[in-house]
Amino acid sequence: MPRALITGITGQDGLYLSELLLAKGYEVYGLIRGQNNPKYELVQRTVPDVKLLTGDLTDLSSLLRALEVSQPDEVYNLGAISFVAYSWENAMLTSDVTGKGVLNVLEAVRLYSKDDPTKVRFYQASSSEMFGKVQEVPQRESTLLWPRSPYGVAKVFGHYMTINYRESYGMHASSGILFNHESPRRGPEFVTRKVSQAVARIKLGLQDEIVMGNLDAKRDWGFAGDYVEAMWRMLQQDTADDYVVATGETHSIKELLDVAFGAVGIEDWSGYVRQDPRFMRPAEVELLIGDPEKARTVLGWEPKVGFSELVAMMVESDLAEQRAAGR
Ligand code: GDP
Repeated sequence: MPRALITGITGQDGLYLSELLLAKGYEVYGLIRGQNNPKYELVQRTVPDVKLLTGDLTDLSSLLRALEVSQPDEVYNLGAISFVAYSWENAMLTSDVTGKGVLNVLEAVRLYSKDDPTKVRFYQASSSEMFGKVQEVPQRESTLLWPRSPYGVAKVFGHYMTINYRESYGMHASSGILFNHESPRRGPEFVTRKVSQAVARIKLGLQDEIVMGNLDAKRDWGFAGDYVEAMWRMLQQDTADDYVVATGETHSIKELLDVAFGAVGIEDWSGYVRQDPRFMRPAEVELLIGDPEKARTVLGWEPKVGFSELVAMMVESDLAEQRAAGR
């Protein structure tokens, strides 16, 4: 039975990846942070077969211990402080966790697998936020990185450190440059879930309006459940490499509002949406659109869920959640 260790087990990707690996017959270990982590129960309820280990990306000794206990064939580093807007307010913490945390995991894996550097296959969750002020359209693996937030800068550090460990020590370390990926499990601080939740509540008469930031930004949004499949495929290759994972389509926040409100029969949403500078960012990533050609040809990966279907799925799920909460 293959064994996997996942950091960031409490997030949307950690849950979907756990389900995928459990279905494939893996023994799955998840690293969970802190004392009385409020998400502990959620993980236990959603994926009861995952074995939880306590540890922190900023604590090398806890990572080494997690490796000794889980003895993994594959390590997926999904843990990060991942909300872009928050990263300006906590730039150093974000750098420590989202950036230097990657180095800690890589170093722990290197020390753990000293006798054979390819003993453990490593996946790093890199991000399209690394492209920031995009230098090429669409963005591919070779596109110059130009991050626009402390989060993006920290992800660039992790990305290059992953490549460096591959080149320096011969580790099987791959970096997935994943464009925005969403699901009903997405945290409500992200724009898709913020909108799907608000639209559901507006439809049910529980809320009057939604307060938003920049409506012109464009993102390449896919379904998280599809994207974890690409992560797994990367680690099944003979050689480690870097891959863009994206749909190849981009949509603005306005289009997101069109589709989300449309899903509950509201065609004109202008009366429900207010803009507030509070949600604007010091530097914005205006446009992201990925070229998933390499993932398609090398990994045989393709996204299955399209943009409208994704947004409708999220609104449906929030309607059900809000109705259940009201009962
Ligand atoms: P990101 O691409 O990782 O930053 O994902 P987000 O979902 O947080 O933001 C996506 C885009 O939506 C960014 O360009 C934001 O500026 C824009 N946006 C506009 N209004 C909002 C809002 O109210 N909340 C969030 N999170 N993003 C917003």
